[in-house]
Formats: sequence, structure tokens, C-alpha cells
Amino acid sequence: MSQAHLVSRTGTLGMAVALVLSLPPSLMAQRGPLTVAEASGFTATSRHADILTFVRELQRESPLIRIETLGTSTEGRQIPLLVIGDPVPTSPADLKYDDRAVVYFQANIHAGEVEGKEAAQMLARDILHGATAAYLDRLVILIAPIFNPDGNEKISRQNRRNQHGPEQGVGIRYNGQNLDLNRDGVKLETPEVRGLVQNVLLRWDPVFFLDSHTHNGSYHQEPVTWTWGLNPNGDSAILAYMESTLLPAVTKRMREVYNTLTLPHGDFMDVRQPERGWVPLGPQPRYLSNYVGLRNRFSVLNEQYPYVDFETRVRGCYNLFLTFLDHLHENRDQIVRLVREADRRTIARGADPQEHDGIAVEYERQPIDQRLTILGYEMQVTQTEGGRPRLQVSEQQKTYSNVPYFARYTPTRTVPLPRGYLITVRDEAVIEKLRQHGIAVDRLTEPATLTVESFRVTEIAGARRSNQGHYTSSVKGEYSTEEREFPVGTLYVSTAQALGSLAALLLEPESYDGLVVWNFFDRYLAPQWGGAAQTYPVHRLLERASLVKETIQR
Ligand SMILES: [Zn+2]
Repeated sequence: MSQAHLVSRTGTLGMAVALVLSLPPSLMAQRGPLTVAEASGFTATSRHADILTFVRELQRESPLIRIETLGTSTEGRQIPLLVIGDPVPTSPADLKYDDRAVVYFQANIHAGEVEGKEAAQMLARDILHGATAAYLDRLVILIAPIFNPDGNEKISRQNRRNQHGPEQGVGIRYNGQNLDLNRDGVKLETPEVRGLVQNVLLRWDPVFFLDSHTHNGSYHQEPVTWTWGLNPNGDSAILAYMESTLLPAVTKRMREVYNTLTLPHGDFMDVRQPERGWVPLGPQPRYLSNYVGLRNRFSVLNEQYPYVDFETRVRGCYNLFLTFLDHLHENRDQIVRLVREADRRTIARGADPQEHDGIAVEYERQPIDQRLTILGYEMQVTQTEGGRPRLQVSEQQKTYSNVPYFARYTPTRTVPLPRGYLITVRDEAVIEKLRQHGIAVDRLTEPATLTVESFRVTEIAGARRSNQGHYTSSVKGEYSTEEREFPVGTLYVSTAQALGSLAALLLEPESYDGLVVWNFFDRYLAPQWGGAAQTYPVHRLLERASLVKETIQR
């Protein structure tokens, strides 16, 4: 053997050894298929077809997974819903006398924000291969890895260029209708969100919902952030649990077990004075995490930090999924009890509203009890030539301590909760919308003379800019108490139902994110011929009444 040959062989061997050693330990022990992200060294993200192939591979390997269709996108793509259980339920009816709790993880709603899509596939694989803690004795796990397939298939390197990878590009924010799925929680105009409500929330009724995103905002070192369903009309015991139990538990477990730093989701209120506060999104139910909270379920908005590398984001997101599963598995009984009590409380409140039972129609931000420590950077605001302020972020790390987190939306004005709403217009769009949400709607089968609160509109204003194809409406007006006769056929929506809080927020005229806002009632509210003020065709019933009615079933 010549010297040269020996050198060459050693060289080749050396390279092979180095390649094997450079694989992360998790990949060396990998069982099951690799995701596109893993197989590409975290330079690419999955296409719709890649996910369908990956899922079929999982099905060849394990009997514990079944696939349902969450919906069909505008461009005709199937949105797969993975059902994972031991045994895997063939339908929710299998779970009727079972004590497993159903939990749901959703990713890629904004298809440029892709780490949840990769982490969700890894999660399904690793659960099925026993590479995670064992969850399936107490949980049935639903996963929608690609909620927005139409946005996903528009992968380009030009999308979200400020984000640190994957370098082969990501999809776009919008669905096939050019709508933002995370603004569709009230109007339900997209097949994706309608599918979520019908085929996940109503069909499986998960106690837990997680929606995975990537943020673009304030600079900090923590790669993973999250917050909860923030609407103040959500159940107060669930809101309190999120704030005082789940937030500290998740922060601790992520740090100590999964070696990942997290921060509640938000942005600096004022980058000039970072310690003034950290502010999450608003409480409107158009955001799906708030919407699900308003339905009395545990709800999480997860946002990764876009300026760390893709692999760190995917692994951080994966660790967050495991952390929530650990917590849900350990605390299943308490979680289920809180959900059951929230529903029971909502129904009882609607059946017999007390003086203090109100619906918040205006609110202000207040800090939660716990203060935050944010691992940030030195920041400076300078003026540019045009006089516009510009944020400069240095690489110098800086810790901001004792920062208030403004995640408690406190009512500043409430209206009394009625027993129900009487709708005097036979409007199919309104009926259909309420029923899409899963709200029970009745129809009077005998006329009734009732004392109700009516809302006379003194002002209706449309937004000057279009939002999601809507010039959203807002109204001002006056309430009056009147006796009124309601004919046969009048619609009745009782608040004594599990979705009573959601029904109230959809139907209250002054609701900041109800059906009035999204133009469902415009034609009845805007003055027409003659210009006289209109009365909102939804009346509030506060007194006890026995109505002769039947439930609309279609
Ligand atoms: Zn997003």
C-alpha cells in the first residue's frame, strides 16, 4: 500500500467519522421518518405532499394513528387532522365513557411561520415510537400540522426575509382567499377556520388548544414565547389558572427539563423605556386563541422568536409542545374539572343572571401579578433624516427586570347579562353564523309579549380602511326598556348554554368584536329612506319568561 493511498483512505474515513459524529444525538437515535427540516439540515420546510407522505409512513409503522380531514382549502387541498390514541378512537363517541382528555395542536396557520409545522410532525412520530414520555394512557392527541396548505405551497425565498431561515424559503401568511386565518374567529369566512370549529372544536371538543406561530417584534434572547386566551369574558377560573399556575409551571419546566428559555408572548410597550411594560395581543375573539378561550377551553398562542436560527426555533417549539403535554398529562383531572365547571357556571349564569353578571364591552390593560425578567439587548432609538425614529439594537445583552406583563384585560364597562336575545329579522346569514359556531338557536312557535331592552342606534360608522374585506362597523346608541310583541318565528338565543359567553359577545350591539362589527347587521342599522334612526333587531331579555319555542335543527 503506497503512502499516498493510505493518506487518501484515512482522509475518506476521517470525513465519514466526522459526519456521523456531527449528527445531533437526537437524530442518531431517530426512529421513524425524518421531516423535511431534519433531512435538509434545517434549510427547508415541508410541502403539503411531504406531510401527506410523512403521515402515511407513520401509519405504516403504528396502529395508534388515524387521519381525518379537518377541511378542504380554497384551492382544494386536504387539511389532515392526525388522531393519536391508544387505542386510537374511531370517533369521539368512543370516548363517551372514557376518561382520556382530548388535546389539540395546530401549526402553520400563517404559512411563513413554519417551525410548528416541523415540530408537530416530529411530535407525532416521537409519540408513536415511544421516544417521548408516555401520554396516551390519559390523553388523545389531535394534530393539524398544516392548517393553511394554500399559503404553504407558495414557498419562496422572498417571503419573511427578516426571519432567520429556513434558507430555502417559506410560504405566505394568507389562505387561498387572501384572508388571514387568525382574524377569522368571529366571522368564520374561511374553510380552514370553519373546519376547525366543525371538525375539531365541535366534533372532538378538546380541553386544550394550541396555535403555533412565529412573531416579528421586539428583540430578546428567549427563542420561544406563548400566551393564553385573553378575552375577559372567558371563564375567570381558567384565566386565573393560566396566569398563576400554567405560566410559572411552563416557564420552569422549559428551563429545567428542556433547557429552553421562554417568555410570555408580547412586545415592549415603549422601547425607549423597556421596563415600562410587556404587552400581548388584544383580547378580540377574531384571534383564534382568544376565541377558544371564550368557549371555556384552555387555549395557547405560541410564537417563536424569528431572529434565532431555524433549528433552534423548531427544537424550542417541539420542547414547548412536550412541556404542555407533560403538564396536561400530569394534571388531566384538574384541567378536565376546570373545563366542566366553566361550562356548568356559564349555563347556570345564563339561566339565572345575577346583578354582578355582566358582559365586558370596554376594557383596559392591567398587569398580571407576576413580573417578568426579559433577557434583552441594549436598544437605542435614533432619529433618521426624515425625522422618523429608528430602533438600533446592539449585540450587548441586557436584562430587563421587574417588567409588568399587561395580559389582564379588565372590564371598564359592562352590560348586564341577559337571559337571552330575541332576533326579529329572519336573516339566514345570521342564523347560519350562530349555528356554525355551535350556538343553539330557537324559534318561537307561539307569539310572546315581553319586556325587553332595545338598542336604538344613534350613530353607525364604517371603518375608513378595509380589513379582511370588511369596512367594519361600530355603533353608538341608547337602551330603553319596552314591552314588545314577538311573533311566531322570532329567533331566540339563550345564554344558558355552554357557549353563552360567546353568544353574548357575538350579539351585543356594542361588542368590540361581534356580528355588528363584521357587517352582519349593517342593512338593518344604517338609516335608509327618510333617515330615521333604526332599532337594532336583537333585543335583550332580562326578565324570567317561559317561551314556547323549538330548536332549529338543520
Ligand atoms: Zn402568525
